[in-house]
Amino acid sequence: MKLIKQLDIVLLLLRCILSFNFIENINSSPNLPCLSSIEGPVIYPDDIRFQSLIIDYNIRVNYTPSVLIYAINEADVIKAVKCAVNSQNGIIARSGGHSNEKYGLGGRNDTIVLDVTFINDITVYKDHRNRNVAKIGAGNRLGNVYNKLNQEGFFIPAGSCPSVGIAGHALGGGYGFYGREYGLACDNIISMNMVDAKGNLLENIESSNHYFDLFFALRGAGGGSYGIVTHFLFEIHPIPERVTYMSLEFNAAQVQQLIKAFNEAEINPRLENKTTLRMKLEKKRSILKLSIIGLYLGNRKRAEAEIDKLLTKTETTHEPKIKPILLEYVEQTFFESVETLATSSEPPSPLQSKYEVVSPVHNIFKVKTFLVKQGEGLTRKAIDELVKFLNEVPCDTSATFELWGGKINHRDDTSSFIHRDVLYCIILTSETSKEQSTKCVDKINDFGRYFQSKFTSYYSYQNFIDRDLDDWETSVVTEDHENTCKGHMDTLMPRVML
Ligand SMILES: Cc1cc2nc3c(=O)[nH]c(=O)nc-3n(C[C@H](O)[C@H](O)[C@H](O)COP(=O)(O)OP(=O)(O)OC[C@H]3O[C@@H](n4cnc5c(N)ncnc54)[C@H](O)[C@@H]3O)c2cc1C
Repeated sequence: MKLIKQLDIVLLLLRCILSFNFIENINSSPNLPCLSSIEGPVIYPDDIRFQSLIIDYNIRVNYTPSVLIYAINEADVIKAVKCAVNSQNGIIARSGGHSNEKYGLGGRNDTIVLDVTFINDITVYKDHRNRNVAKIGAGNRLGNVYNKLNQEGFFIPAGSCPSVGIAGHALGGGYGFYGREYGLACDNIISMNMVDAKGNLLENIESSNHYFDLFFALRGAGGGSYGIVTHFLFEIHPIPERVTYMSLEFNAAQVQQLIKAFNEAEINPRLENKTTLRMKLEKKRSILKLSIIGLYLGNRKRAEAEIDKLLTKTETTHEPKIKPILLEYVEQTFFESVETLATSSEPPSPLQSKYEVVSPVHNIFKVKTFLVKQGEGLTRKAIDELVKFLNEVPCDTSATFELWGGKINHRDDTSSFIHRDVLYCIILTSETSKEQSTKCVDKINDFGRYFQSKFTSYYSYQNFIDRDLDDWETSVVTEDHENTCKGHMDTLMPRVML
C-alpha cells in the first residue's frame, strides 16, 4: 500500500503549497478580473509557486500558461471557461499532466490551464441499475483510483503508472494489464459530466440520451477536445481473488523467436484474456536486454501453463523452444500486483510518488508508438531493423511490446476508440539528457517514419501523443470519426487543443 498511500501525502503537500496565502491574495490578481470569483487557487506567472506547478512528467518540452487555475468544483470550471471565451483566450484542462507533448498545458505558451486535481472525489455505488459503479472526479490519479476502489473490493481496468491522471488516460483509451479481460478504461465509462465551450455543464452524457454522439466522441478519441470533463461514472469490477505477477528475462539474441510468439499470441492455442504481457527490448549503456513482465488474473499454476503456451510458440523448424534465463512467478493479492506493476512501470522516486509538481523527479524522453494489426505481426526484417536502430541510436532507447487483443478488440459503436484490430502496440522510448535531446529526437523521428511506412500499420496510439507525426490528425483517428464528431462541433472547446 506504501506507494499509493504516499500519493495521498503528496497531494496534501500540494494542497499546503497552494493554501499558502490562498484566500487573501491569489484571486485578486488584476490580470483577468473574470477569474476573481473562482474559489480554487488562481496562480499567475509572477507567483513564486508558478514555475514548480507547471513542471510535469516529461521535461523535454515545456510551455508557460498565462494562468493556472485549480478548480475545486464544477462551478469553478464553468466560470473559467466563460472567462476564457469572453476574454478570447484558449483554455485547456490538465488532469495528471502526463501528456508526452504537454497538451495538458495546451501544447503552446499563453494558454489558460484549468487543473482538475482537486476534483478528486470517489464514491462507490453498489447495484446501481444492476451494476456496480463509481463516480470518479476527473482530478484523480490512477494510483488513487486503484487504492480507493480496492478498499471497497473493486477496480477499473486502466494503466499501471500510478501518477497518470484518470481523465487524460480514459478519454484517450487507457489500456493496462486488465484490458484483455475487461476492456479499456474508456470502455468502462457509463456516463460523464462535462463543461462545454459555452460554459454549460452537461450532466449525464450517456449513450442512451441526446448526448449519445458526444458520449461516443469522448470515449477514446483523446482528451482535451470536446470540453472539460469533471466527473466520470465507471463500471467497476470485483477484484480477482488471486493474481500472478510474472517476470522473465531472455538472451537478447532470441528476440526473433520471442516476437514470433507474440505474433502468434491470438492463434490457437491462443493466450487467455486473463494473460497480459509486456515484452521489452532495451538498450541501456550499450547493452541490449530482452525481458517480459506479465500478469495472469488467476493462480500460479494457470500462469505457468500460459507461459509454457507462449514459449512453445517460439519453436521454429530450425530452432528449439527458447528458455528464459530468469523466470519468476509471484502469486499476490490484486492490490499487491498494482503495487508491483507500479514500481515496474516507473522507478520509485525518493518520495516514491509522482506528483511531479511537488516531487521534482522528471524525465526527458521522446515516445513514438506503432500499432501492429491482428493477423500481421512484425517480419524478421522489421525486427532486424529495430535491433539495428537500438544498437546505433546514441541514447538509451527501448521498444516495449504491449499485447492487446482480447476485449480491447471488441468493436463498440458507442466508443470512438478506433484501434480495435491491434495485436500489439510498440512503444519506442528514447531517454535522453538535455544536451543529447535534439540529436536523439531527430534519430527516433527518422527511424519512426521509416519503420511505420515499411513495417507497421499507419496508425499510432493517441494516448502517447506525438506531435512529430507527419499527419497526426489522421494517424490517430479515421475520417469517419472526424465526421461523427463534427456533429458536436458547437460544443468543442476554443481550439487550443491539439
Ligand atoms: C509514465 C507514463 C506511463 C503511461 N502508461 C500508460 C498506460 O499504461 N496505458 C495507457 O493507455 N497510457 C499510458 N500513458 C499515457 C497516458 O494515458 C496519457 O499520456 C494520458 O493522456 C495522460 O493523462 P493525464 O491526465 O495524466 O495528462 P494531461 O497532460 O493532464 O492530459 C492529457 C490530455 O487530456 C486532456 N485532459 C486532461 N484532463 C481533462 C479533462 N478533465 N477533460 C478533458 N480533457 C482533459 C488534456 O487537455 C490533454 O490534452 C502513460 C504515460 C506516461 C507518461
